[in-house]
Amino acid sequence: MQRALEVALIDVGGTLWPNSWPIRKADAVGRRLRIRAAMPGIEPATVEALADDLIESSRPGDEARSISTENLASVNSPAEMLITGCLSRQGLPADEDMIRRLRSAMSIPISDQMQPLPGAGELLAEIHSLGMRNVIASNTYWRDAKSYWEDFRLLGMAEHIDCIITSVDAGHLKPHPAVFEMAMRWAEVPPERCVVIGNREDNDIAPALALGMSTILVYPDDPKPLASRANAVAPDLWACAKTIRDMCRTV
Ligand SMILES: [Mg+2]
Repeated sequence: MQRALEVALIDVGGTLWPNSWPIRKADAVGRRLRIRAAMPGIEPATVEALADDLIESSRPGDEARSISTENLASVNSPAEMLITGCLSRQGLPADEDMIRRLRSAMSIPISDQMQPLPGAGELLAEIHSLGMRNVIASNTYWRDAKSYWEDFRLLGMAEHIDCIITSVDAGHLKPHPAVFEMAMRWAEVPPERCVVIGNREDNDIAPALALGMSTILVYPDDPKPLASRANAVAPDLWACAKTIRDMCRTV
């Protein structure tokens, strides 16, 4: 008999790792080094001017994300628009490959200051032990799947992740269903075999319910929600793991 639940689609900010992202002085230094490496053969003065512009232009967004790692931008590819603007001010062509390399250079790697929320690794392992697959389904600004793989490898969590889909890869931010739809296409499963785990009613739970998926609202790094339409609500990731176990027994 086929299992009822086969795939967990898991949010990251406020779900697997904290809502807030610390800003450090070294971030700009690291970005500048990665921008230089991403632009071989370009006049050094032009590269420095581009790096100044990219770092300065992204400051308001970075500061906003130090309060919440949820992407609050209303356009679907805000990073691409910002990079395109910076390139054009330096008279440089904004081709797709150049934009991708600069987006990756601007993505700040995970640091030892950034630890997953308690029980994150165990949740992923528990889902695997139930015979299900784990797909990261995340709204991001700079990060694409490749950047995230590096983060999760550094955090020692990559072995329990089967696929990563970000809004950058899907071309739309949640609550648009593109991230979840891409995950279903990858997993080759219908929505009723998926459970979405996330910390946001609007971005995670609502679009998942609209598609016909099961849902668990978690709040390991948020205040207790007053109400939710989710199938289950879990205060932490240990409780979430138990909820998934129970769901697998009963559905
Ligand atoms: Mg989140």
